[in-house]
Amino acid sequence: MALKGRLMTTDVLLSKGIIVDALCPLCHSSDKIVMHLFFECDCSFIVIVKLIPILRTLKVC
Ligand SMILES: [Zn+2]
Repeated sequence: MALKGRLMTTDVLLSKGIIVDALCPLCHSSDKIVMHLFFECDCSFIVIVKLIPILRTLKVC
């Protein structure tokens, strides 16, 4: 879904004319774009690491 642009992130909602809060609801530091959600957001990374333990070797949280 993320690769096809089907996740309802801020950038997708704004492109459809839907007005939403632009900041990430987890870290409040960046726009809710797909790249932030999966690769930049420290809060979502902590959740992903909990779900996929092998990722703990990549970054200390
Ligand atoms: Zn964030």
